[in-house]
Amino acid sequence: MNIKRRSILRGIGTGIAASTIPSWASGSHDSTRIGIVGGGIIGASIALHLARMGVQVTLFEKSRPASGATMNSFAWINTTSPDEHYASLRMQSVFAWRTLDQQLPLNVTWGGAVMWSDVDKPVFAGIQELVGLSHNQAAYPKNVIDAQQLSALAPNLVFPNSLETALHIPLDGHVDPVYSTEVLIEAARQYGANVLYPTEVEDLEFEEDRLTAAITNQGRFELDKIVLAGGTDTPILAEKVGYEMPLLHNPGLFAHSKPIEPFTNLVALKTSGLTVKQLQNGIIVAAESDAPPEHEQGVHTVIRQQRLEMPEAIAQEHGNRILSQVAEAFPVSQGAELDKVLIGYRPYPRDGMPIVGSLDSAPDVYVATMHSGVTLAPIIGQYVTRELLSDRPVAMLEPYRPNRFQ
Ligand SMILES: Cc1cc2nc3c(=O)[nH]c(=O)nc-3n(C[C@H](O)[C@H](O)[C@H](O)COP(=O)(O)OP(=O)(O)OC[C@H]3O[C@@H](n4cnc5c(N)ncnc54)[C@H](O)[C@@H]3O)c2cc1C
Repeated sequence: MNIKRRSILRGIGTGIAASTIPSWASGSHDSTRIGIVGGGIIGASIALHLARMGVQVTLFEKSRPASGATMNSFAWINTTSPDEHYASLRMQSVFAWRTLDQQLPLNVTWGGAVMWSDVDKPVFAGIQELVGLSHNQAAYPKNVIDAQQLSALAPNLVFPNSLETALHIPLDGHVDPVYSTEVLIEAARQYGANVLYPTEVEDLEFEEDRLTAAITNQGRFELDKIVLAGGTDTPILAEKVGYEMPLLHNPGLFAHSKPIEPFTNLVALKTSGLTVKQLQNGIIVAAESDAPPEHEQGVHTVIRQQRLEMPEAIAQEHGNRILSQVAEAFPVSQGAELDKVLIGYRPYPRDGMPIVGSLDSAPDVYVATMHSGVTLAPIIGQYVTRELLSDRPVAMLEPYRPNRFQ
């Protein structure tokens, strides 16, 4: 881990004073032993929020932190969803990110997002619906802007003369998901969390229906509760306790350039098929919004159905094509060299919504699996902690319970 340990806890101290423990947290939690499966951004955030409350947290990661979907994520922090409730949950999390970003050196780029179209339509399909979403426009503005305003926001962006309308979402942000996960994990560790990797949870042990331990490849760990935040692997453990988690296979491919001079702090989305951001260290991260074109070797057909290593030459081909599209939109990026191409698999529940809550079949087993986990990590960390420590359900999580599929 690259994080300097001593610098992580900015202004929040290394322990939590008894007087700051919120009223919903019943009693002292220093004897409650909670395990977390997974050191992605969701497990990391839950570990931090629990550890801050004085819980004995053990985080088990079978590989290394942020090595799953988190590593391959675009990591755009946003509220964009046609579902009113879900958009509100996301909005809460954007604000929770802003609070956490004041406390820890998470280095979020709060540059906002723009969407524009290069197809010959005066108002691209989608903008009106996005603007029309009634979740609080005052709290979370989405502004329809004209070409002049777009130029002012993104002076390096080239867009068609015919453009009449674009969308600006000023409160969105983006992060380096690996770095921010490492910061969350290091902060959790400084609050006392035990972070173990590589350690794979292979099974769960019960007496009656109460959890007694996690069985790992490094031994047996006695626990009172466990959170399954294993991303696309969560169904493996969930199935062992009688819950069939319906995840869809949902791959995505992103090109990462070598660092170049900063040219934008926006998340830039061309609706006909380009998604771009630039990290604070100058690296461009970009994708085609739709899937890459099929390759003559047919590799995409297979990747769309199952996990597969993409041959390096084909990955390079895609990466270079994506960077050339970035250069068309942002000519200042011309010449940026491809560093790597990452293919990630989204933990994507069948209905697109998070799966969060205890399992009916095993009440000490709690699952937290979702797409948009980068956006949602801070609020999920808060709400899951509240539910695990108070026995009082968080109303905001009600639509996302695991048993909704049954
Ligand atoms: C291509 C792509 C683009 C995305 N873009 C965005 C975006 O722009 N904005 C956004 O908000 N979200 C985005 N997402 C989604 C987001 O990245 C994920 O929702 C989020 O990273 C999930 O985090 P996680 O911690 O749940 O899972 P993961 O990051 O997959 O972490 C799970 C971890 O659990 C570990 N694990 C699994 N099983 C075990 C076990 N038995 N024992 C121990 N460890 C185990 C794995 O090794 C892994 O490290 C994107 C995802 C992808 C793939």
